[in-house]
Amino acid sequence: MAAIAQVEPLTSTRALSGPFDYAIPEDLRASVRVGSLLRVPFGRQELLGVVVGLSDRSELDSERLRAPRAAVGAGVPADLVELADWIARAYCSTRARALTLVLPPGAGGGVGEQRRLVATLTAAGEGAIAGAQRVTPKQRELLERLARAGASSASALAVDHAALRRLEARGLIELVARAQRRAPEHTVVGVRGGTPELNPEQIAAVDALLEAMQTGGSRLLFGVTGSGKTEVYLQAAADALQRGRGVIVLVPEIGLTPQTVTRFVDRFGDTVALLHSGLSAGERHDEWLRLRRGEARICVGPRSAVFAPITDLGLIVIDEEHDASYKHEGDPRYDARAVAAHRAQQASALLLAGSATPRPESYARMPRLRLALRADRSALPAVEILDMRDARGVLHERTADALGELRRAHGKGIVLLNRRGWSNFLSCRHCGKVWGCPECDVALVLHQAQRTISCHHCGHREEVPARCDACGSASVARHGLGTERLEHELTAALGDEAFPVFRLDADVAVLKGRAAQVLARFDDAPAGLLIGTQMVAKGHDFAGISLGVVLDADATLRFPDFRSEERTFALIAQLAGRTGRGRTPGRVLVQTLTPDARAIVYAAVHDSEGFLVGELERRAALGYPPSGELIRVVCSSEVEGLALRMAHELRTRLAIPQAQVLGPAPLFRLRGRERAQLLVKAGERDAAVAAVGLAVGARLHRDVAVSVDVDPQ
Ligand code: ADP
Ligand code: ZN
Ligand code: ZN
Repeated sequence: MAAIAQVEPLTSTRALSGPFDYAIPEDLRASVRVGSLLRVPFGRQELLGVVVGLSDRSELDSERLRAPRAAVGAGVPADLVELADWIARAYCSTRARALTLVLPPGAGGGVGEQRRLVATLTAAGEGAIAGAQRVTPKQRELLERLARAGASSASALAVDHAALRRLEARGLIELVARAQRRAPEHTVVGVRGGTPELNPEQIAAVDALLEAMQTGGSRLLFGVTGSGKTEVYLQAAADALQRGRGVIVLVPEIGLTPQTVTRFVDRFGDTVALLHSGLSAGERHDEWLRLRRGEARICVGPRSAVFAPITDLGLIVIDEEHDASYKHEGDPRYDARAVAAHRAQQASALLLAGSATPRPESYARMPRLRLALRADRSALPAVEILDMRDARGVLHERTADALGELRRAHGKGIVLLNRRGWSNFLSCRHCGKVWGCPECDVALVLHQAQRTISCHHCGHREEVPARCDACGSASVARHGLGTERLEHELTAALGDEAFPVFRLDADVAVLKGRAAQVLARFDDAPAGLLIGTQMVAKGHDFAGISLGVVLDADATLRFPDFRSEERTFALIAQLAGRTGRGRTPGRVLVQTLTPDARAIVYAAVHDSEGFLVGELERRAALGYPPSGELIRVVCSSEVEGLALRMAHELRTRLAIPQAQVLGPAPLFRLRGRERAQLLVKAGERDAAVAAVGLAVGARLHRDVAVSVDVDPQ
């Protein structure tokens, strides 16, 4: 048994990096292992730390070694410690920060188990029922109930603890405190049913997966929208369980994908644990423990579920693998898809990524399994491109007609506008002032319901101005259109009791559970309209949608980003995917100012493959992923001009073989900090990451913060 524990203290300061040696006291030696959580003395404070290694001896004198104060809980499995180590290296972060990703929820925060009191009848209690002891009528009734029901909890018996304690004191019952699971609830949305008989395409895919599971590796389930990918995941998961192996299922934001959760819970019951931020701390803690103890063997959740403490992992599913939510936007800036790939490799598990619109990277790198037909054999909807260059107003004539027709026919439709709020920006008609964020160089967006104008980057908000504070004019113009105003206008034009209009966007979804509620209400409604941002195009399986509309399809194309085409394509194809399922034939209208854009043209003919092939050629020509690796380095500072100067300085320090460094380019000011970016395009990833890590590790300037984003999205 090892005498020395190498402990990484969990602090966010980069300067403090361990591991540090601690002498394990005799009584802890049997239980301390790699992954154990310890409370350790550190300087004059006490910190939580994770054991990252064990040893028989230390370089330090034994008198100088200190001992941990206590072990905290069961700790994390050793392979997650290794995974955290890899994340720290792969994303230029610290081991401590990466370790916090894999810790039990609420570690160190005092979230404990919830106990409940359970009563059982003793022999003396049975005697009391028979009249051997005197009891009150109420007590007798309680004892009789216990005799009928067997062991019951205090809450099931509906009596207070004091009454039970009195019976316990007389030896008539026995009381034990048992851990009580706080089980999360999930909203039920969408078509539910039993296990359908798989069609030949699905059977072929499942067969191929079962074989692949023997050896591990990765597969892309490239199936058109509605082709029954979820059924394939379920079968593969069932097979993994049968082999005694665990399963992780990653889904985009859980509030938006309640259907997938429902299907897994329906099929596998209690062996499914849910891990997501919508749960209470207690629920998360309990679900995590059920996984850690092996009581649950399938974990369903968003990107952080990739860290679920599952031993003997056999399968990791990534549903809607193109979804942007898989990338984490805080240090470490990990990509759950890459972490999943690494973890699968570590465990010799199979990685299964599914999408109708996969990323070019996945399409190029992973062996593909194709589902070319919809499970219900319905045709994909006809898509019409509507040229808005000479249209007046927000809606094209044909769109307005189609919406009117939909209402008359009591049908259902979805309208996508990827911009929330009422209008994009306000300006003064007299002096031209544009209301901007004081902390960021962006315009403030009007939110009518909240009576505010607010910054979508830092959250700054102000009251809606009645007049211009620069010139005093009361003539303030509102420009552009967001989902809030669209909802207002379409409700006025079309909405009534028989044709309700629903809205779903980030403003609606800030309330816990609201997104799932809106989806459920829209699903239940026999007719109506769902309006919203890209949230409405996620993998929902609604029956009876006959019309899909995309307004301003170019909104995503205008982003100066090499992924903007891929995003635009996915958005249109995914919305089309919600349309025309079952017996309802579908139709999709796409309003655009660039009707010839490649992403739009290919999406209109449902040609994912054609789009991907062209996209890969374009990327190869430009050295973008997967034909090259990208690393983004951003310097930021509150001091004027400093961020850009330091980015120049950093550039001279970056000597990376086979790499090209672009920039520095100034970015817009964010949260009061000026920013400048360098973009590294490299041929070989590990070497480039290491070189960037080295350059960034040495301190630049005390007033400059540097952040590194490997594989920026
Ligand atoms: P995807 O995830 O590929 O978009 P889903 O898994 O949501 O598709 O399936 C679409 C619909 O088809 C669901 O309602 C599902 O229950 C149904 N379905 C899946 N497989 C079959 C099958 N073999 N036979 C009949 N219906 C199926
Ligand atoms: Zn003015
Ligand atoms: Zn701001």
